[in-house]
Amino acid sequence: MGDNSLVIGFDLGGTKMHAAAVDAQGHVVHSERQKTVATDGADGVIDRMIGLCVRLRHELGPRGDDLRALCVGVPGGVDDERGMVDTAPNLGWSNVPLAARLSKVLGLPVFLDNDVRVAVLGEHAYGVGKGARTMVGIFVGTGVGGGIIVGGHAHHGGRGVAGEIGHMTLLPHGPRCGCGKRGCVEALASRTAMEREARKLIKNGWESRILKLMKKEGRDTLTSSVIEKALDLDDEVMTKVLKDAQYYLGLLAGNLANVLDPEVIVIGGGVAERLGERFVEPIRNHAYKHFLVQRDREKVRIVATELKDLAAPLGAAFIARQRLLGRLDSAPGARHGTASWPVPSA
Ligand SMILES: [Zn+2]
Repeated sequence: MGDNSLVIGFDLGGTKMHAAAVDAQGHVVHSERQKTVATDGADGVIDRMIGLCVRLRHELGPRGDDLRALCVGVPGGVDDERGMVDTAPNLGWSNVPLAARLSKVLGLPVFLDNDVRVAVLGEHAYGVGKGARTMVGIFVGTGVGGGIIVGGHAHHGGRGVAGEIGHMTLLPHGPRCGCGKRGCVEALASRTAMEREARKLIKNGWESRILKLMKKEGRDTLTSSVIEKALDLDDEVMTKVLKDAQYYLGLLAGNLANVLDPEVIVIGGGVAERLGERFVEPIRNHAYKHFLVQRDREKVRIVATELKDLAAPLGAAFIARQRLLGRLDSAPGARHGTASWPVPSA
């Protein structure tokens, strides 16, 4: 692979898709995005993915010929060896032969991985985690997903299912989680959980502008932008709901730090992208209080995502490059994400 080579890092989200052509130094040469429209089904979405890659290639002009590979971060579980998406609930997919479908039309080798894991690798390769030996990523979106880097490499575990930090139980008798258990971090601190709590408070008579803001956006859900606008209005419900979520995310970060002693804990996903330090500071403070060893606690940097919605495309590009060089062997562990992981850019 020459110095001029480019790879495509592709972030396939439940609502939007984002493809970036990335050079050997990790610079984004050009990127394109568009809506996913999951309701079109797998065939429709794959057609749009192909269309986006074709447009990207066209925009690259003569450099389009330098494209060597494509890696897709998928919101779900993948089997990279077979090039299959096992399950992606946000897309309504199961057993979709994504790699073959893309490869056949685009004429490039296609690799698959889980989107959150890809985003954590992106932050490790090119963002806040550069050079870290041990690192944890916590991504807050419709769910809470994560990724763990140990010894400078993604940690997959024996069965390939490591990193399920969103399903760490914090309240055994707490609210029911999508996974069937109670009181998981995801059931307490995801955007979905915040929305459930906000609606509950409003139903109980708390004054709030949240529902109006949601209506104004034309989407009946608590988006990151609604969260920000409500906070700017000092909305009581939003402030309380966010504070609670930050408390639980702080507990999670503290627990993970006690186990792994990472150099960096990166907080990503839509809410962190939009609110940055405003979201992370209380999480950091709660986490530090929870550290068993208080000495040098600032050496555990708990920070917001630096790459934002480029974390996943850059991480996917990094994997594509490593795979081309044959550096990442395809241990089965590298391939199974879990269905409930969120879309980092949601
Ligand atoms: Zn759970």
